[in-house]
Amino acid sequence: MTQATYHTKINLLVCLSSASPNKSFALVGFSASAHPGIKEYVLEQRKQHLRLLEGLDVHDLRWAVGNCAEAETFAHMESIRRQFPRTLTDLDNMVAITLTLDLKDQTTHGPCEQCSQLIYKLRLQLPCAIFSLAPLKTGHMEEYSL
Ligand SMILES: [Zn+2]
Repeated sequence: MTQATYHTKINLLVCLSSASPNKSFALVGFSASAHPGIKEYVLEQRKQHLRLLEGLDVHDLRWAVGNCAEAETFAHMESIRRQFPRTLTDLDNMVAITLTLDLKDQTTHGPCEQCSQLIYKLRLQLPCAIFSLAPLKTGHMEEYSL
């Protein structure tokens, strides 16, 4: 495998809540760039840690469900949510901010169709707003790692 074979992306996820203004959580995850045997293991581990991945559609994308860097970071959102105190108002719910960067060409990427579906399903489970900091791109398909 050559360096060009892998197109690794990194995702930064930051979670905070007005219910606990002195506490925030930040973590990073990477796309599943690895040799095929190892990659299958990584994807299976991700599906075990984030069961919502099993229900996602492929969306005609060239990468497997769970390959994206978001699959690694979003698996921690439910446990992070439990770190914040529960309140009676929706206004104090957790806010998650995410940004994905391609390590090869240093470009930012918004969520692909799989990750958008994952965000939708996470929103049904968690009282949490999820925002992408990636600027909107028009006129071309998002390139995600294989
Ligand atoms: Zn994705």
